[in-house]
Amino acid sequence: MKTQVALFATALAAVLAAPRALAQTTIPVGTARVDVTPDYPTRLVGYESRRTESEGVASRLKAVAIAVGADDQAAVLVAVDNCAVGAPVVEQVAARLARKAGIKRERLAVCSTHTHCAPGLAGTLDFIFGGGLPDDQRARLAKYTAQLTDAIEKVALDALADRAPASLAWTQGRIDFAANRRVLKNGKWIGFGVNPSGPTDPSVPVLRAVDAQGKVKAIMLGYACHCTTLGGEFNKICADWAGYARDEIEKRNPGSTALVVIGCGADANPEPRRGLDDAIHHGTALGSLVDGLVKSTMTPLPGRIDARLKRIELPLEKIPSRAELVALAAKPAAQGAFARSLLERLDRGETLPTSVPYVVQTWCFGDQMAMVFLAGEVVVDYALRIKWEAGADRLWVNAYSNDVPCYIPSRRVLSEGGYEADFSMIYYGRPARFAPALEDRILGAVHDLLPAPFDSPRPVK
Ligand SMILES: [Zn+2]
Repeated sequence: MKTQVALFATALAAVLAAPRALAQTTIPVGTARVDVTPDYPTRLVGYESRRTESEGVASRLKAVAIAVGADDQAAVLVAVDNCAVGAPVVEQVAARLARKAGIKRERLAVCSTHTHCAPGLAGTLDFIFGGGLPDDQRARLAKYTAQLTDAIEKVALDALADRAPASLAWTQGRIDFAANRRVLKNGKWIGFGVNPSGPTDPSVPVLRAVDAQGKVKAIMLGYACHCTTLGGEFNKICADWAGYARDEIEKRNPGSTALVVIGCGADANPEPRRGLDDAIHHGTALGSLVDGLVKSTMTPLPGRIDARLKRIELPLEKIPSRAELVALAAKPAAQGAFARSLLERLDRGETLPTSVPYVVQTWCFGDQMAMVFLAGEVVVDYALRIKWEAGADRLWVNAYSNDVPCYIPSRRVLSEGGYEADFSMIYYGRPARFAPALEDRILGAVHDLLPAPFDSPRPVK
């Protein structure tokens, strides 16, 4: 008897000490995927060094959607195999989904996998093609942009139509094929490479949806790494490691749909990155890790998403003078072409923009987990700082979301200078580097959007 009482007391103490577990609720969840591989050659975007249209297909490009929630509470996330799905496409899709399905803007997220082996899109990264494109190549990119816009709308509507009761859960693992790529000397950027002492975010957040029959329906994962195992010499269409990770997860979970989203990996490259075999290796390793996590015990998520979205302006530093632009206009390739385009704008009587429009979005799954969506090519400091300030054990930070206006350097990266701080701005048509104030402005927007308890400082365990 005495032993039984002791056992009971021990069991009671264990129950009382356990973290507040959420009873598993069901919520409508739907998925869909659509092939977005063009059946014609196009200019692939991501490397200035490429000079010709694509030469074949190494792997198929997809747009994959997950829809969560009923009626006017439905939220849709679309993950697209593209370098940079910008605001012109995303806002067009958002307007159509609002009209056809009543989806509120804050309940749509469009995320790019940032593969550098997908077609360029009209209105995004225009200056990566240097002095411009022949008319026929430009026409094919415009055609693809229209087709991709339709495809993103279709896959979102298909996912909404597919909704059926399911339960959601999440967890996090870690993998380390992302390497910080900013090589520094005396605190200044000197080139691309591998910087073993530079920061990365190795976390692999995973969301799982299980249907009423107990079958895994959807698996979404995030990882903060450029989708650039394949370099500029590779000119075939390919979804890179993100596509191979998806394939591996779906192979191990027949009937499921896998989505890959990219975290704050703008200053991280896959390592090694010698070609297709490495892309397959990284993707398969990540898919295998995620499959193990999906089969483990995960934290249940509630059946409601609190979605919020905020638009802010990020300040640019000193805008170049006409005299400075005239000097730059003589330079070759993208730099000269961009300076000449800015001079043409001045000649038309326009003033050059002094800021960059920026969108921040949050999806909170009760107080269990908050997903933060940041636009652009966001460097790792943002994920680390958001997690430090709001709790790494309950934050999922996505970049390349809703727009890809340019790189988003931190104060640290701006002070070090180099590609992500300076040269890359040309490709995106931005007339100057950012002012250091951008970092606090983005963090301020994230905290404005995150409800309590996420908004309160909570140091990492
Ligand atoms: Zn990039």
